[in-house]
Amino acid sequence: MRMGKTAAACAVVLALAATATACGGEAGTAGDKPAGGDVFSGTYKVASDVTIDSPVLKKAQKAKKITVGVKADQPFLGFKDPATGTYSGFDIEIAKMIAADLGFSEKQIDFQTVDSNVRETKIAHGGVDFYVGTYTINDERKKQVGFAGPYYTAGADLLVRKDDKAITGPEAVKGKKVCSIVGSTPLQEIKKDKYGAETTEMGKYSECVKNLLDGSVDAVTTDDAILKGYAAQRSEKLRVVGKPFTKEPYGVGLNKDDKALREAITKALENHIKNSDYQKAYEGTLGKSGSKYVAPQTPLPRY
Ligand code: GLU
Repeated sequence: MRMGKTAAACAVVLALAATATACGGEAGTAGDKPAGGDVFSGTYKVASDVTIDSPVLKKAQKAKKITVGVKADQPFLGFKDPATGTYSGFDIEIAKMIAADLGFSEKQIDFQTVDSNVRETKIAHGGVDFYVGTYTINDERKKQVGFAGPYYTAGADLLVRKDDKAITGPEAVKGKKVCSIVGSTPLQEIKKDKYGAETTEMGKYSECVKNLLDGSVDAVTTDDAILKGYAAQRSEKLRVVGKPFTKEPYGVGLNKDDKALREAITKALENHIKNSDYQKAYEGTLGKSGSKYVAPQTPLPRY
């Protein structure tokens, strides 16, 4: 059997130290450090007697649990600890705040990992009650799902190896191998002829990061907030270029026709932005990987 470089290295690590989590696991950690779960985790006051004319919420109330779609391999944003199965990060905190205002405690949240390429399908077919996972609001997606927000605005950037001095911005990726993931807006952007990049398309960002570390691609593109998390995990090997070239307003995705739920989630976001839960969560998660705090504008838009 022929082993790849990473697999061989992991086999050695396993034999020496039996540190299974260091070599992958369900959450798809990106390489040699399983960090990312060591962030702020808050508790939020759970509302009682919530009555909203929302079919999605009524179903959740009957089941006494709410299903929330999230990411699992984005440290500081949506990260599932491979050892404990616990989710953590800024998007997880946002999900907990919303769930609390809808009447669900953290224990009643059923977090489901949903990657970018299946978000619309999962939401539209009721596979999740709502979705919080670095999800850019745009008109194309609004044809299939509803959005509450924006609760944060990121921008597409580039993650490169620390010793790479050639990639100085999106104008310098001509002929370079750039990895991103299927169903994401930064992939659509970098595929435009004007950049002249050679794209590699994966299912998870952590797979792109592995490719970058082993030299099979030259850069990874997605939102700066996500890339900063990977760079923080491997500051000795990776860096973010720091020239954002798109605007990615993050929304909470939900059933397109459930207007009552959309209004309730919008109000929940406004409530926690105003009472400082949002800022506290931000500073304890995203703030730790180097994203500067910017207070979101309220009132949030309604449509
Ligand atoms: N925010 C971008 C998007 O929604 C990229 C991050 C992601 O794939 O979740 O496509």
